Amino acid sequence: MRIAFLSSEVAPYSKTGGLADVAGALPKFLAGTGRAEVRVFTPFYREVRAKGLPLVTAAENVPVSLGGRRLSFNLYEHRAGNVTFSFIGSDDRFDREFLYGTPAGDYPDNGERFGFFSRAALEAMKAAGFRPDLVHGNDWQSAAAFAFLRFTLADDPFFSRTGSVFTIHNLAYQGLFEKEILAALGLPATLFDLNHLEFFGKVNFLKAGILYASAVTTVSRKYSREIQTPEFGCGLDGLLRHRSDVLFGILNGVDYEAWNPESDALIPANYGPRDLGGKTVSKLELLRLFGLPAEETKPVVGMVTRLAGQKGLDIVCEALEGVFKLGVRLVILGTGEKKIQEFLEAARQRYPEDLGLKIAFDEKLARTIYAGSDMFLIPSRYEPCGLTQMYSLKYGTIPVVRATGGLDDTIQEFEPATLRGNGFKFEAATPAALVEALGRAARTFSDRQRWRRLVLNAMAADFSWDRSARRYLELYKTIISLASRRR
Ligand code: ADP
Repeated sequence: MRIAFLSSEVAPYSKTGGLADVAGALPKFLAGTGRAEVRVFTPFYREVRAKGLPLVTAAENVPVSLGGRRLSFNLYEHRAGNVTFSFIGSDDRFDREFLYGTPAGDYPDNGERFGFFSRAALEAMKAAGFRPDLVHGNDWQSAAAFAFLRFTLADDPFFSRTGSVFTIHNLAYQGLFEKEILAALGLPATLFDLNHLEFFGKVNFLKAGILYASAVTTVSRKYSREIQTPEFGCGLDGLLRHRSDVLFGILNGVDYEAWNPESDALIPANYGPRDLGGKTVSKLELLRLFGLPAEETKPVVGMVTRLAGQKGLDIVCEALEGVFKLGVRLVILGTGEKKIQEFLEAARQRYPEDLGLKIAFDEKLARTIYAGSDMFLIPSRYEPCGLTQMYSLKYGTIPVVRATGGLDDTIQEFEPATLRGNGFKFEAATPAALVEALGRAARTFSDRQRWRRLVLNAMAADFSWDRSARRYLELYKTIISLASRRR
């Protein structure tokens, strides 16, 4: 089967978060089964250009008409392993410093930018002669593609047998724009209706994916249930309940070729379950990089995270005093909301020996944290899947997480009596619950033998993409056979 995979970020070309990791890995595992030919469509951002890859120019000035405007784009290709990555080049839209916006806020033309991307990606399939059996779109940035397939291209023979799957990686980001965006994208004005794309007076791109794709998936089983409740539904729980017969939770996976302490070239020293020596070397280097005392005996708790309310940073901020009373050190790497950043910077002055902080997006430093920390803290208020806990496990760094979404699905509480489990969990989104769980971790840490066993449990956990890629293939197969029967 031919699968066209649409994503607004793809590692290692462009990345702000977990979606990039998924879009970089899942297609490779799908193609690796030998049952799918996969092409990934993504914007040609400035940060992609800066990588200086040997790209092939597949087509120039490909015309695309959008809301009566005659526009065009260039199509660049990069073949990596068994997957072709197709980049949509439109410098007005994508040759910018950031992907979605500056620290001051989103780019005001994001509706047009990603509407264009979604439309151009469909046109690029034609230009490349890649007639897809199925289009798999991800998050609001690709969701308009399903409105184009349903309305603009309804009678286009090229897509007459094309099935569709839409994956929600984070329901809170919906792509809300003024009504005028419909005309700008050449979509029918009648879609400005509650039963279509209208959402509290705005046009909601995510709704296009939820309503018009044949099946909707999200990235863990628990999150697929949570988003059908008012608490986690972000105003779309009713619609998701309505689609519940075609809504599936498929857990994200890890590409262990890219995330493995035995071969990771970006960490201070390699190590594996049989010899953890490199982990200690990494810990000392981590402490040095963050300007903290070179003490091996105190546990180091790492965080690599967007500084956003979702990630529970406010809980961490409130819990700092209690955390440091446990005798642990905390290192945080992140970018995001100014308010959280300023609070952490002030806290860094108050706890210079215990808190390490770097405001940056830095892949090498992130991996040094996965390798050099003893524990990894993820106090998310909600977490669709979460990848950082899975990376931590592989690096023998014990997750301490809030029991929500994918965190709850992947982490089992360590039981000192049976020595089973791979981490520590807490339920309440409160500083007290966080400190209590970290306390359990710190006490276990001081029992060297038990801790070693826990570290080995963690490193043995297997969240490889193989299983989840097979689940996607099964879903594709069902959708494709329905799509070919329908026409
Ligand atoms: P989300 O996509 O919600 O941000 P995930 O846990 O799914 O969270 O994925 C986050 C990804 O982004 C991981 O690969 C993580 O290592 C990476 N990441 C997040 N913040 C940073 C940062 N400041 N520097 C480097 N990598 C980061």
